[in-house]
Amino acid sequence: MVPCSRCGRPSVIHQRYSGLNLCAEHFEEDVQRKIRETLRTYRIFSRGGRVAVALSGGKDSSVLLYTLKRIFSHRRDIELIALMVDEGISGYREDTLQNAAALADRLDVPHITLSFREEFGITIDEIAERDLHQAPCTYCGVMRKHLLNKRARELNAIALATGHNLDDEAQTILLNYLRGDVDRLFRLLPKRPKEGLVYRIKPLRRIPEREVAIYAMIHGIFPRGHGSCPNVPRAMRLEVKNILNEIEARHPGTKYSILRGFDKIRELAPDIHVDLHRCERCGEPAGGSVCKTCQLLEGFRAKPL
Ligand code: SF4
Ligand code: ZN
Repeated sequence: MVPCSRCGRPSVIHQRYSGLNLCAEHFEEDVQRKIRETLRTYRIFSRGGRVAVALSGGKDSSVLLYTLKRIFSHRRDIELIALMVDEGISGYREDTLQNAAALADRLDVPHITLSFREEFGITIDEIAERDLHQAPCTYCGVMRKHLLNKRARELNAIALATGHNLDDEAQTILLNYLRGDVDRLFRLLPKRPKEGLVYRIKPLRRIPEREVAIYAMIHGIFPRGHGSCPNVPRAMRLEVKNILNEIEARHPGTKYSILRGFDKIRELAPDIHVDLHRCERCGEPAGGSVCKTCQLLEGFRAKPL
């Protein structure tokens, strides 16, 4: 057994990027330190308030809820509330939602399930069946963000936390560079909250995906549904993920470098000011006169059957 670099007890993880072996206790300390440092960068937790946590029941959002509960356990002025979304994806979502509710109950965190059927009158299964040209994920991502933001705002949440990890962030940054999409790149990390949009935070953005998985195992946060969404392809992201993993294997620390580099550019860049309007149809924040969700759904409904 390889000894922990800090205390000599048996290690549970080797971090190639830091050269450290860590036992369960020092791994916990390392994960918590990174999350606390990330939380400090958002500069919103000096005062209390309600924090909405997007909980899908997968390993990332489960670890997110678990660690936030631990970190804020001494803060009586901070209240967590888990938001779960039922997009209507049969054979997949039922399991993850059950898993999510069980975890929230175990942690004594109140939870609410929001449903595409109730909010938009349609499910992702129905959309996927009828629109054979556009990937269901295009609808799903936009509609989920819409719903989470709306509910978090109604709950007066000071932030909406999502479970994106280091791999997700590095992939998204690289993907946006590859597409030359600078606007979208900077929207990743808003400098300050925008009217009508609840401040989105990503406390796990400095934790590698592999470590999120190991953390979930150590703490018995096992997602029940092991399957993945049937609509998952997202071709280019998968390519970027594989390339990044190959580079990381040869040059440990690359994913962190991508994140650090982007954060520095973000610091130097001016705040891209996007005037937000209210959507003429639904009243939610919109870049133009009609929000992205209403545009997508109207386009979908106008398609011939
Ligand atoms: Fe939605 Fe696509 Fe994710 Fe499935 S893979 S949950 S359709 S965004
Ligand atoms: Zn709208």
